[in-house]
Amino acid sequence: MKTELQLLPISKWLPAANKPVIISGPCSAETEEQMVATARQVAATGKVHAIRAGIWKPRTRPGQYEGAGEIGLEWLMAARQETGLPVTTEVANAAHVNACLKAGVDILWVGARTTVNPFSVQEVADALKGVDIPVMVKNPINPDLELWLGALERLNKAGITRMAAIHRGFSSFEKGPFRNTPMWNLPIELKTRLPELDILCDPSHISGNRELLSMVSQKALDLDMAGLMIESHINPDEAWSDAKQQITPTRLAQLIQDLIVRTPSSSNKIFQDKLLLLREEIDQLDDDIMSKFASRMKISEKIGQFKKDNLVTILQVSRWDEIIQTRIRQGKAMGLSETFTAALLRLIHDESIQIQNRVMNENRQKD
Ligand code: PEP
Ligand code: MN
Repeated sequence: MKTELQLLPISKWLPAANKPVIISGPCSAETEEQMVATARQVAATGKVHAIRAGIWKPRTRPGQYEGAGEIGLEWLMAARQETGLPVTTEVANAAHVNACLKAGVDILWVGARTTVNPFSVQEVADALKGVDIPVMVKNPINPDLELWLGALERLNKAGITRMAAIHRGFSSFEKGPFRNTPMWNLPIELKTRLPELDILCDPSHISGNRELLSMVSQKALDLDMAGLMIESHINPDEAWSDAKQQITPTRLAQLIQDLIVRTPSSSNKIFQDKLLLLREEIDQLDDDIMSKFASRMKISEKIGQFKKDNLVTILQVSRWDEIIQTRIRQGKAMGLSETFTAALLRLIHDESIQIQNRVMNENRQKD
């Protein structure tokens, strides 16, 4: 389904002198002191453009801190008063939206556990009808691009044009190094479908721990994401939620300082000429690769005919195994990763089987 949204770029509603846009603050507002002190220290870094804090916390299991509730909005507004920075919080239903609008919250975000549910997203969208406020939409917890797009569309249809998406990774049963697997191909696909949509990355919820934050943040910037939402806390180890992934404002400043900001293009003439040459080389090599693939498939076709004439099956497991082993060894010697060679061979093999299957079974209906 085609997606078209009326959007205003983030540079128009959350200006940052230098890319990336940085939003930071605690996972949860816990007390007024914690909220205001965190905001003050975060703002003092001079590198942050908005303050975040969760007021209503959607916890996966009951019995954990579920947020301060409405009183937390007063603390958030105190943080804004103190720092002069816009503030943002998560809304999951109409009551949250109304409370935020009444309090004067600057930017709203829809959390991963809400994006997943069209009823809830629609409720939020209906409550926002006719209201001109920026809204950021986190990806759903499951890797479903349609749900993410659907949430953006519902809000856009309600009249919200100041929108951005936030990539915070996806839940999986298998626990890898990340709390939420990044699956970078999803935000890339979202950007391909909606080039005018700004996407921020939330390395905190992807990583789930402090150690991976820099690596994930850098990767997001290298994929040309517009900014980062990073959780910070004056005393991270004592945080009432997501303690392992929060960092002190000092560490936040260092993390931002260490990021390498690259641009998608450069106006440097020497760079442009060299890039053009390298791209020509790539185009030439791709041409060669494609024609080699085409020749290879022609041979598969011949083999199919040959096997058909001799009543031999398409698949010979031992041959396939030999191909995999030799090519992976060969690839490694040439500096190609095993994952890459194996994936490429699987594609080639699947296509080859399909071709042989077609050759063997054509005219079957007529026989
Ligand atoms: C959060 O930002 O604190 C939060 C609950 O995020 P998510 O919706 O990505 O889990
Ligand atoms: Mn959190």
